[in-house]
Amino acid sequence: MRVERSIHAPGGRRHGPGRHDRTTWRPGTLPRPWYDLAVTGIEDDALLAARTAVADHARRLVADRLVAGTAGNVSVRVGDLVAVTASGVAYDTMTAEDVVVVDLAGTPVVGTLRPTSELPLHLLCYARHGASAVVHTHSAAAVALSLLRDDVPLVHYQTAIFGGAVAVAEYAPYGSEELAANTSAALTDRSAAVLRHHGTVVLGSSLRAAYDGAVHLEWLCDVWLRAAAVGTPRLLSTEQVAEAVERFRGYGQR
Ligand SMILES: [Zn+2]
Repeated sequence: MRVERSIHAPGGRRHGPGRHDRTTWRPGTLPRPWYDLAVTGIEDDALLAARTAVADHARRLVADRLVAGTAGNVSVRVGDLVAVTASGVAYDTMTAEDVVVVDLAGTPVVGTLRPTSELPLHLLCYARHGASAVVHTHSAAAVALSLLRDDVPLVHYQTAIFGGAVAVAEYAPYGSEELAANTSAALTDRSAAVLRHHGTVVLGSSLRAAYDGAVHLEWLCDVWLRAAAVGTPRLLSTEQVAEAVERFRGYGQR
C-alpha cells in the first residue's frame, strides 16, 4: 500500500483539497505536523479501516478483561503510518474518530487526540521487530506471573506461537524510552514479552494475530499460576517447544 505525502514547508503553499483538514493540533501537547497528506480515496479507506480495527480491538480488550479502564493500547501499521489508540479515552465507547494516526517517527498525521503514552514502545516494535500490529495489555495473570518469574514457563506447546519461552522485561516507568528498550530486549527472537509490574506486549502480522496472541499469552500465564498454586508444575523441554515452533512454521499459522 502506498501513501503519498504532499510535503510543504511550514507556511508554504498547501497541496490538494485539504481532505484532512480535520487534522488539528493542540498547542502545548504535540509538535505541529509539518506536512499534510494527500491520499487517494482508496488509501483513505485503508486508513479508516485501520482506525476502525484499532477501536474494535480496544473495545475487545475491555470485554475480554485484558485491561481495566483506559489501560493498555493497540496499534496497527498501514504503510509508513501507524493507527494507534489515544491516551485516556475510555475503550468501551471508543470509535475510529478517537484513533490517532502518526508516522513512524511519532509525528501526528490524522486525529485530534494525543496518542497513547506508550507510543515509544509501539514505534520501537515497528522499527526494530518488523511488527505489523502491536497489542499491549495489563492482563492480571501475566502481571501476577511477572512478580514471580523471569519468563513464562513452558506449560503448553502453544508457547511456540511466540517463537519459544516468553521473557519478562525488567520494570521501567510507563511511557518511558527505558521501558521501550527493556521490552525490545525481551522481544529478541520472540513475538511477545511480559512487562514486570505492568502487563504484556504482543506483536503480530495483523491486528487479529497480535490480539489472539495476547489472549493466548494471558491463558498460558493463568495455566501456570493455577498449577503452581497447588504444586510444582511439570514443564515441556525447550526441545519440545522448539519442535512445536518448527511445526507451526510448517503449517504457516504464525
Ligand atoms: Zn501499560
